[in-house]
Amino acid sequence: MIRKILITLGVLLLISAGFFCLALGSIVDGKRNAVYPHDTAQAFALSDEGQALHQTLFVADLHADSLCWDRDLLEENDRGHLDLPRMQKGNVALQVWTVFSKIPRGLNVNSNPSDSDLMPLMAISARWPLSAWFSPKGRALHLARRAHSLADKSDGQLQIIRSKGDLTSLIEARKGGEKKVGILLGLEGAHALEDGVGDIDAMYDAGYRVIGLVHFFDNRYGGSSSGEAKGGLTDEGKELIRQMEGRGMVVDLAHASPRLFADTMAISTKPLIISHTGLQSLCDSPRNITDQQLREVADRGGIVGIGYWEGATCGQDIESIVKSIAYAVKLVGANHVALGSDFDGSTTTPLDGTELSLITAGLLNSGMSPDQVRLVMGENFQKLALAALH
Ligand SMILES: [Zn+2]
Repeated sequence: MIRKILITLGVLLLISAGFFCLALGSIVDGKRNAVYPHDTAQAFALSDEGQALHQTLFVADLHADSLCWDRDLLEENDRGHLDLPRMQKGNVALQVWTVFSKIPRGLNVNSNPSDSDLMPLMAISARWPLSAWFSPKGRALHLARRAHSLADKSDGQLQIIRSKGDLTSLIEARKGGEKKVGILLGLEGAHALEDGVGDIDAMYDAGYRVIGLVHFFDNRYGGSSSGEAKGGLTDEGKELIRQMEGRGMVVDLAHASPRLFADTMAISTKPLIISHTGLQSLCDSPRNITDQQLREVADRGGIVGIGYWEGATCGQDIESIVKSIAYAVKLVGANHVALGSDFDGSTTTPLDGTELSLITAGLLNSGMSPDQVRLVMGENFQKLALAALH
């Protein structure tokens, strides 16, 4: 009898813990990835020309963290910024789904230690496998498996892009009117290569094709703009770049310290990206890039993705995003600027994935030509990825 009661109590405890975790995951997701209140219907109504142009574009975005959250990405959700239906409504053709794999305590843009990690809470509440609870590498491998399993269940609507051939067939499908969405997997921080550069094979096999060298803290490969030492590229970092370039992987310098940026530019031989950033000239923050850095990336054939959150644009409206893009285009030309939303990156944004046509409309209104808009909204990244991938 006592045994029965204990078993029943245990089962009840497990069920309530499960519900608590589920509720916790969705509450945190909704709070961390919010949208500023705005009147979409009115904005859509005022932008016929932009809406029409948007439907003809190959839209690409360089950075969204959607995979990390406990949300069914094949269904339309009422929280967060992106999922497959919302990408399709926004006419997205190619999306980098980036995985962050460690969260320092007291996260801020100025200085974060490398040795604290709040992610176990997130991993456990989302019921990730044990291998992903305490290991950034385990988390990255788990989330890549998650992406592949979503693609398998998507009825061909979601395709993980691993090669130039995959991307070419996606482009053809889109030209034929299919609403298929291509996903490039990216790592936010090479610290997920936990045991050294040799881990690159496991990451490549898992599908990763973009690696941001650092996130909010310094790691064994280099220094972060929000790290403690903010150092340059280490010997292991140099080897990592050589290995990435050899495999056709794209180097991402978002979150890089000024020294890491300079060291990487000095040794890299391929065009690289800064996937999600703001511009210091318009929004002063150590997290954002200088005009000189923007010019250097452009001079080397690279592209810079403009972020949507307030820390990137210093604004809470679509106009601020448009202003940053227009500034960058004026400085380096339309061939080197792209979208870098940071959707679902613990950001609050003025729009979600369904409303990207409002950026197209805003860019047209700012005086950019339809051809320039076409490049910024996605063709620049399409070209860079086609050239990079093997
Ligand atoms: Zn980031």
